Amino acid sequence: MINIIKGVFFPQSCVVCGETVKLKSSIVCEKCKDKVSFLRGKPCLKCGIVVEDENEQYCEECLANERFFDRGFVLYTYDEPVKKAIYDLKYNGVCEYGRIFGEVAAKRFGPELKRYGRITVVPVPLHAKKEKERGYNQAYEIAFALAENLPCKLDEKMLVRTENTKPLKEIGDTQRRLSLRGAFKCDKERIAETICIVDDIYTTGATIDECAFTLKRAGVKRVLFLTVSNGGGI
Ligand SMILES: [Zn+2]
Ligand SMILES: [Zn+2]
Repeated sequence: MINIIKGVFFPQSCVVCGETVKLKSSIVCEKCKDKVSFLRGKPCLKCGIVVEDENEQYCEECLANERFFDRGFVLYTYDEPVKKAIYDLKYNGVCEYGRIFGEVAAKRFGPELKRYGRITVVPVPLHAKKEKERGYNQAYEIAFALAENLPCKLDEKMLVRTENTKPLKEIGDTQRRLSLRGAFKCDKERIAETICIVDDIYTTGATIDECAFTLKRAGVKRVLFLTVSNGGGI
């Protein structure tokens, strides 16, 4: 089923104007390439989003909240056309965008990630029921391409989602963390020293931090994460 959906998009068309994309690993054509904006500015040393106060090393959220993850890397700002591409990856079966995002992320953050030594890439898991409904896990699509291009090990079985929680956009910030408590399980037999969690979007960090908490409790020493974009729950 997914392969059929994927096939419809070849030759791949530009997310902005619909022209055929001739650039390698791009969601847009040559003419529209300036419309895609990488996250620019001083990144928070914890979560990787842009710090508003240039004199601070951490963003306000990270100063105010305890974090179990050690360092995050965020690829793009949550604007069009990335927003649409993430939506298509998540809800319209365009897994090709996951491959592209993973490749671009490996290129952009590869040198920094390699400084942490040997890492294992772990996608944020979907609950089995949800993955069955969707037919795939969008985070896995990104993680697969990231691991292939760095290159490094991929382990999509280390973390499992045991609770099918409500989509986070439907509940308030303070409840997010509580609703996620215990939502993931880690297979202790599979752990590694340094893990890089992969997801499509970093919103409040609650999901990724719960994954990090679960991994650390199982004995993982360092938890990094990488997302395609920040903000906006979809
Ligand atoms: Zn275009
Ligand atoms: Zn931060």
